[in-house]
Amino acid sequence: MITEKPVNERLQWFLDRIGKRVFRNHAGCPCVICKKVYEQGFVIVDASHAEYVHDNEADYAASGHPLRYFDTKEQALAYEAENPLPNQQKLES
Ligand SMILES: [Zn+2]
Repeated sequence: MITEKPVNERLQWFLDRIGKRVFRNHAGCPCVICKKVYEQGFVIVDASHAEYVHDNEADYAASGHPLRYFDTKEQALAYEAENPLPNQQKLES
């Protein structure tokens, strides 16, 4: 991994939210952790966590899955309605 990568705008978004809760649209993964994150969001604990989440989002984008993080669950659900995942499975909750 490159250690001196410039802080891009999207990474800055995550860094600005350290200590805050974020939400995301459905990742298309039915595991317990993803289900919990989808329903409750999670708190970004520190800078390395912010980077991890940012990289995760970028990885999904690269694989064609529009996974994105938002300040509110409402925003995440609105995004999800506009960008359904190709392999999205509707989960009973
Ligand atoms: Zn999962």
